[in-house]
Amino acid sequence: MNYQSILEEIESEIQPLFNEGKVASYIPALANVNPNQFSMSIQMFDGTSFGIGEVNKKFSIQSISKVFTFTLALNHYGKELYKRVGHEPSGNPFNSLVQLEYENGIPRNPFINAGAIVTADSLVSIYKDSSFKNILNFIKKVSNDETITYDEEIFNSELEHGFRNYALINMIKSFGNIHNNIDDVIKTYFKQCSIMMSPAQLAKSMLFLANHGENPLTNECIITESKAKRINSLMLTCGHYDASGDFAYKVGLPGKSGVGGGIVAIVPKKMAICVYSPRLNTQGNSLIGTKALELFTTKTGLSIF
Ligand code: GLU
Repeated sequence: MNYQSILEEIESEIQPLFNEGKVASYIPALANVNPNQFSMSIQMFDGTSFGIGEVNKKFSIQSISKVFTFTLALNHYGKELYKRVGHEPSGNPFNSLVQLEYENGIPRNPFINAGAIVTADSLVSIYKDSSFKNILNFIKKVSNDETITYDEEIFNSELEHGFRNYALINMIKSFGNIHNNIDDVIKTYFKQCSIMMSPAQLAKSMLFLANHGENPLTNECIITESKAKRINSLMLTCGHYDASGDFAYKVGLPGKSGVGGGIVAIVPKKMAICVYSPRLNTQGNSLIGTKALELFTTKTGLSIF
């Protein structure tokens, strides 16, 4: 299949959407990005790739990092982890506090902020002061790319303006579900959100999830088949916050978005995709990115259903 011509069709069909949606404004460092960007990268199992737009231009991966940290934590703790973070959709915004109070500080899933903060805490328990280094090394390993790093300005912006995340971690700590120093954990979480990657790097980094836990480019086993299945299921049901149902309905692929404007999507046994466009819909997911992926599965028939 010539995916290149499909990407070109998609690029022309999404043009009318370029005055809809707004870039993330909760931190100044993200509010200043050029809203009118679109790029999409497809990475195949045999190493071939297809792309449109600036597929090597890095952006802030934000919540896409939650897939990597959850993979690391699940690898280490196995199902014990689910005692501290659930696997149900929340139906609430990404940064919501409401369920924590009546669910004893146990976040619904690892892909909302509360769940990712608990996941970060579980990694701080293992790696202590070198938690972020280990997260970054893991991302470099799955991407087969040593150049990946984080953006200091975005990190500082998160630190300065992340009042909601401080509220979340304090609330969870009050229920005893944060085991380490709050500052250490929140810094690890903010740093993972500030990692910069390009669509091409992200599509590559997700290939192991499309291949039962093994990176098809390096033949390296990253996680077991059963854990890969669980992560894909969570991406399908929880990867887009309170628009997860809408994404599954329209796109029909496991996916994870970040407020930086990126979305990764998994086509099992075939490919991994990353689309970037920073204008967001009201639920904080890339508006044009979601539409582009919907067009992709409609045109190719490559949804999981
Ligand atoms: N840094 C963002 C926050 O914690 C991540 C949320 C997202 O990407 O959806 O608010």
